[in-house]
Amino acid sequence: MSPHLTASQKALLSVELEQHALALRTQLAAHLHGQSRVDRANEVLHQDNDDASQRRPELAVAAALTDREQVELEAVAQALERLHGGHYGVCSTCGSDIPFDRLKVQPWATQCIPCAS
Ligand SMILES: [Zn+2]
Repeated sequence: MSPHLTASQKALLSVELEQHALALRTQLAAHLHGQSRVDRANEVLHQDNDDASQRRPELAVAAALTDREQVELEAVAQALERLHGGHYGVCSTCGSDIPFDRLKVQPWATQCIPCAS
């Protein structure tokens, strides 16, 4: 259990996490869609080689964004599991309670401020 969080605080964090997960999935879908379009554009460009190298950075940026979103989405999903499983808001390094003020800003945080910094 997480005795330092009230039921209403947990309910609020749960809503925050659900909303953030939804926003991430939307962004991820948009980027994956964009990425596959850039891939197709590259195939066309490779037949006529001149601009292909200028297109590459765009592809790398899209891939980096997608990676970051997938990592964050995974962190959010795990936070929701912990929240529902009753082992939420505890620092994974030192075991102390993560303050609600920190969780409000970053509900998927796994470390307290001293351990994270
Ligand atoms: Zn800690």
